[in-house]
Amino acid sequence: MKIINNVIDYSFLSSFDIKELIEALVIPIRTDSIYFVCFVCGESNVSKVYTNSLIKSYELSKEEILFFLSDIKNRVKLFELVLKSKESENINHTFIEEFLDILIKKSIDLRASDIHIESLEQSMVIRFRIDGTLKVFYVFGKEFFSGLSSFIKLLSKLDITQIRLPQDGRFTKKKEKKNYEFRVSIMPTINGESIVIRVLDNVNIKKNIEDLGFSNHIYKNLKNITTLKDGLVLVSGPTGSGKSTTLYSLIKEFDFETKKIITIEDPVEYKISQVQQIHVNDNIGLGFKTVLKNILRQDPDIILIGEIRDKYSLDIALEASLTGHLVLASIHANNSIETLSRLIDLKADSYLLSTTLKYIISQRLVLSICKYCNKNACEKCNFTGFFGRSSLCEILEIDNIVSSMIFEKKQKYEINKYLENTNFMSMLADGKDKVKRGFTTIDEVYKVVSRNEI
Ligand SMILES: [Zn+2]
Repeated sequence: MKIINNVIDYSFLSSFDIKELIEALVIPIRTDSIYFVCFVCGESNVSKVYTNSLIKSYELSKEEILFFLSDIKNRVKLFELVLKSKESENINHTFIEEFLDILIKKSIDLRASDIHIESLEQSMVIRFRIDGTLKVFYVFGKEFFSGLSSFIKLLSKLDITQIRLPQDGRFTKKKEKKNYEFRVSIMPTINGESIVIRVLDNVNIKKNIEDLGFSNHIYKNLKNITTLKDGLVLVSGPTGSGKSTTLYSLIKEFDFETKKIITIEDPVEYKISQVQQIHVNDNIGLGFKTVLKNILRQDPDIILIGEIRDKYSLDIALEASLTGHLVLASIHANNSIETLSRLIDLKADSYLLSTTLKYIISQRLVLSICKYCNKNACEKCNFTGFFGRSSLCEILEIDNIVSSMIFEKKQKYEINKYLENTNFMSMLADGKDKVKRGFTTIDEVYKVVSRNEI
């Protein structure tokens, strides 16, 4: 699929009726005096669109053909802009801006979290990350890359002459009267540069608890957490498992007017008004430790610690939660029981832990079956059969028995044995339940639940 854009003669392709191409399942590549060259699949009917010459065809899957043709208007337009830019003598920003605008509009429409623009040895590849998965959308010649890179730097107020060192910036774009924010990272590579544009507004952070696709029993427990006055609540899972989204959605449930809420983050990516967010910055001496050391003097009710990363941050979290504060934090661990082991590895005081720990949430994100086509592949899901993600989750409520087991430093298997006789539902069980209800596939569930990082 990756080579498709590169080999296609778009002016030839544009001479066809797109609807007919979709019906015939054919992507014309080019023609010469002898051959009509095209991409086809098992169900294609080439004679429906072309009969003038011999046919030379290359095989693609039906989904790939439909994915390509469904977006043909943008592909042709982008190709024309690349050509026009090449033809004009000086770097022409009008064409480049239009090119970038198409990518940005597309990223918003697709709910993409990131746009990746990479210069490779011969080509420039544009990919979008949608629901956690990268997909190649466009491939063009490499000549256009430097102009596009300079324009993005200009837009993000970066040094356009700098191509040897990494740069970070931001820009805002208006679409349908709404301002969208983008964070840009540019990294020099052996073939040029890799540009990643994060579409900040497309990230799930703005969602409320009810929109995150939790099962009912999880949702009820999460609601209970929002009534806590003090204690420690931990969210665990590998990177990209939706921990921050869950933490933010919990924070948003509290009354901002009567509670002092402070977050310590590295970095702050999403602003919540009326919450005191602290952006940790080691370069200026505002390190994690410095902030934690002073945090209680800020008279907080609720503290969100971006990540419990060492004994120091854990001790502060325990101390704060023991002295009448509610502390929410994320921690790297594979599931709720392993979170307990991780806390013990960090040499947590078992008395403090058993007294303060209230809940451990552990989660993964699982792809949802496309609600528009029910896994049959359609334009909405880019012919993948999946659209959006929901959370697989387990919540370990620290009841009196678990609490005393923590105090007595019981082994994992002993806690597991106790849980078997309670209504604790593991992540895998939550996943199987979602499969039964038609929300996702069993393959997806096994894939994400077995995704262990530690
Ligand atoms: Zn679909």
